[in-house]
Amino acid sequence: MKDRKVVIIGTGFVGATIGYTLLVKESVREIVLIDIDKDKAEGEAMDIGHGVPFVRPMQVYAGEYRDCKDADIIILAAGAAQKPGESRTDLLSRNASVFKSILQEVMRYCPKEVLLLAVTNPVDILTYITLKITGLSPVRVIGSGTVLDTARLRARLSEHTHIDARNIHAYVLGEHGDSEVTAWHSAMIAGLPIGEFCNRCGQCSGASLEEIRQSVKNAAYEIVEKKGATYYAVSLAAERIVRALGGGENSILTVSGLCDGEYDIRDVCLSIPRAIGSHGIARSVEIPLSDGEIAALRRGADRLRQLARQIGY
Ligand code: NAD
Repeated sequence: MKDRKVVIIGTGFVGATIGYTLLVKESVREIVLIDIDKDKAEGEAMDIGHGVPFVRPMQVYAGEYRDCKDADIIILAAGAAQKPGESRTDLLSRNASVFKSILQEVMRYCPKEVLLLAVTNPVDILTYITLKITGLSPVRVIGSGTVLDTARLRARLSEHTHIDARNIHAYVLGEHGDSEVTAWHSAMIAGLPIGEFCNRCGQCSGASLEEIRQSVKNAAYEIVEKKGATYYAVSLAAERIVRALGGGENSILTVSGLCDGEYDIRDVCLSIPRAIGSHGIARSVEIPLSDGEIAALRRGADRLRQLARQIGY
């Protein structure tokens, strides 16, 4: 993993912070930053690169699309971000055309074994569009999906139960957006279903699980309202995916990818737990869900598919 070359396209709040996070975590060998605004990419590369003496030797520079020629992973973080009150799907047509122009350039140079990681919103539909435009294998085209929402859920449940978030196994599935599904049916702490854990523990905060679900779903709206953008936790999520892609760890992450019959859902990208290895998505894991959760997942899938069709994909 530490020998990998990563190209980040789009060096706004999210792309630049992903670059910084990859540097701090010493995750890769080479980080290339590309943006339509060359000065921005150059400024970020200088600022991040000046930190190299504090970590292990690494190359950080602003580049061109031809630098994709020997890239291992290309991270797509370019495009418009949510403004206060905007939903992720409001960004669709603008960011679909940004992706189309970027992917035409990327595909001129990148090796066919490259791994593409989409982060720009609406990330599920843009992951699907990336698959369609590039024709790459679905195992190699990944969206950051609900890895962030799953982290937000675990962070909130950790505050609620006073248990280390790493010992909380709970997932957010489906769309990274308004139709996301919290998989309470299979949520566990220390081998106990979450409801049972809370009943036994007696130390949980007063919040209900429904309040926690709502706060996770609305977290981005609240952060954008308060500070204008979200970028720290998503960058840690992207770094976690990059590390899984390099390590052959088969870590389970709720990345977005093409569904091929899981929960009877097809021809749409959304998040379910997937094992991530060095070649991309190694396999999907169909965890037990309640009938209501499956129905919600399918409704979300239909909506995402419909939105993609509306813009011609
Ligand atoms: P930003 O406005 O700060 O940065 C976007 C960058 O993209 C800018 O630097 C811009 O110059 C660049 N860009 C635009 N068009 C381009 C093109 N054709 N080629 C190259 N670069 C181009 O936005 P941000 O806050 O960094 O957010 C970026 C995206 O990430 C948004 O869509 C946002 O919604 C999304 N996001 C996703 C998650 C997630 O969990 N998936 C979380 C937070 C934000």
